[in-house]
Amino acid sequence: MRLTPKPAPTGTTAVAGVIGDPVHHSLSPVLHNAAFAACGLDWTYVAFPVPAGAGHSAVEAMRTLGLRGLSVTMPHKEAVAEAADHRSPVVEALGAANCLVLDRGLVAAHNTDGVGFIEGLAAEAGMTVHGLSIAVIGAGGAARAVIHACAGAGAARIAVINRNETRGRAAVELAGGVGVVGSDADISGADLVINATPVGMGGDRSLPSDPAILTPSHTVVDLVYDPWETAWLKAARQSGATVFNGFPMLLHQAAAQFGLWTGREAQLAEMASAARREMNRA
Ligand code: NAP
Repeated sequence: MRLTPKPAPTGTTAVAGVIGDPVHHSLSPVLHNAAFAACGLDWTYVAFPVPAGAGHSAVEAMRTLGLRGLSVTMPHKEAVAEAADHRSPVVEALGAANCLVLDRGLVAAHNTDGVGFIEGLAAEAGMTVHGLSIAVIGAGGAARAVIHACAGAGAARIAVINRNETRGRAAVELAGGVGVVGSDADISGADLVINATPVGMGGDRSLPSDPAILTPSHTVVDLVYDPWETAWLKAARQSGATVFNGFPMLLHQAAAQFGLWTGREAQLAEMASAARREMNRA
């Protein structure tokens, strides 16, 4: 379904956007403008390239310019969490934010990546993580949000497999009593295996782990969505595993941001079709 074109912005249009570096390939403008149009809101969303080190200034600019909402991507997630006036409990735990909300001149920091993962999995796979044994490959920003959310949603065990041991151990802490430092051996016994590294992105054909250990008993999620199916996800599918890419998480973390900014429920179908058209996946 094609959306009705949005009217041109006027002097009263609310402005939201994404800050990051790089940011020009971000799908967020497509997702959020589709969401605003679907709800008939006089809002617009643009991409702001903001260089590393300027996250604090971007938060100040948000207050000065009255930007109603900002999505935040690399490399600013930690800096904006620090510069905000308020932090949600999830941001306090992770030390990183992916969403800022301006309310009466004050900036509140949120992180919707974890809830985006949980809700994306529920919507796409009909799955909850409650009681599951999970192996997470990676311990960066995305992995930390997913680990924290899965622990909060009742996962039975979360094994974190990471190249850098110190970062791996710090991510395990986020899982509380159910977290362990993992190795490839933990993948065999896991119900759910998640790649939260950028391995496989773009033209990268390398693999985050050996897909030969994956079987039909595994559900496998690659947080990468470009390409739509990474070499690892393809091999997992060929091993009989049930596979999902990172698009459901992307969609649901954006929907949660839309809800925080507008107080409205996002029209997921319209957002998904606009993004899929942009990626030629319609
Ligand atoms: P990040 O903070 O830079 O963390 C990257 C993680 O991957 C680190 O744990 C790093 O290990 C590991 N890693 C990087 N290159 C590796 C390699 N060649 N071999 C093994 N491990 C490697 O990045 P991020 O923000 O967490 O993003 C990770 C991925 O998730 C990206 O592809 C991103 O696009 C995707 N993502 C998707 C969504 C979504 O909505 N679907 C949302 C956020 C992120 P070390 O600690 O050892 O350096």
